[in-house]
Amino acid sequence: MSISIKKRIMIEAKLKRNEPIVSVKFDDGIESCYHGIWLRDHCKCPNCKHSISKQRLIDTSKIPIDIKPESLTLNGNELRINWPDGHQSSFESIWLHHNSYNPNIIRNKKNYMLWGKDLINHLPTVSYADVMNEDGDGLKRWLNHIVFRNLY
Ligand SMILES: [Zn+2]
Repeated sequence: MSISIKKRIMIEAKLKRNEPIVSVKFDDGIESCYHGIWLRDHCKCPNCKHSISKQRLIDTSKIPIDIKPESLTLNGNELRINWPDGHQSSFESIWLHHNSYNPNIIRNKKNYMLWGKDLINHLPTVSYADVMNEDGDGLKRWLNHIVFRNLY
């Protein structure tokens, strides 16, 4: 089985006036909006995301909730963001298109759940025994919690 992902090109990227939101228009006509804090939190540079383990290296809670890019540079398949503290982030068009949440573009993302402060009271759990049981579906359930709640 192969999965075909259509490559998308960004034709415009701009900051929304008076809002910490980046608006990106793709060549399929869809315009997606991304909050500054979401973009800063998803930075993939080696200082923010471990190159081998892919573990996030920044503390999301330390990012100002109203962080707004200082400037944007668009180059077809890549959006570069300069942040007020001098940090730079880079995002590929295909990644932004696939992870668009406003609007939610990818139909098979219907099972995704946004998380917020209420998650702490409803943490998904799967027992260790269920995860380790090779005859059950514990591992699948555990991984689904991670993927569909964007906890990775
Ligand atoms: Zn970074």
